[in-house]
Amino acid sequence: MWWKRKVRKGSPAGAGPVELCDLCAAVFPESLAVRGWVPDSSAVHAGEDRFDGLRLVTACCDDHFDLIGEGYRYRPYVEEELWAAKLTRALTTGPPALSVEQLARRTGLLDAQIRAAIAWHNQRLREQPHTDP
Ligand SMILES: [Zn+2]
Repeated sequence: MWWKRKVRKGSPAGAGPVELCDLCAAVFPESLAVRGWVPDSSAVHAGEDRFDGLRLVTACCDDHFDLIGEGYRYRPYVEEELWAAKLTRALTTGPPALSVEQLARRTGLLDAQIRAAIAWHNQRLREQPHTDP
C-alpha cells in the first residue's frame, strides 16, 4: 500500500527549487517531482507523529517512483522496529526521559511495547557483525 502524487507547484522547469531522485540521484526541478509515502517501519518524523511508519519518497518520474515502491513492498514491516524508532526519537530530542513511564508518555507506547522495542533493538545489535579491526 503506497500513495503517490505529482508535484505541480512552484516554478517551471529550469528555475526555482530542485529535488533529488531517491533512486537515480538525478537533480530536477521540484515542479517535476513524483512524491509519495511508502510503508517503512524504520521511519519516524521529527514533528509529525501521524506519519510515523511511512517514508516520503521523491522520484524524477513515475517509473523510478514505482521501482522504489517495489523495494519497500518486500521490506518487512516490523512493529518493534517502529516502536524502537519512536524511542530513539524520544531519547534524542527534548528533555531526557529517565523512566519507562516518561518514555510511555512521550511516545504513546505501552510498557510492553517499550520493552519489546528494546529487546528488538538489542537483538539487532547482537546480530550485526563486529566492525572492530
Ligand atoms: Zn530517478
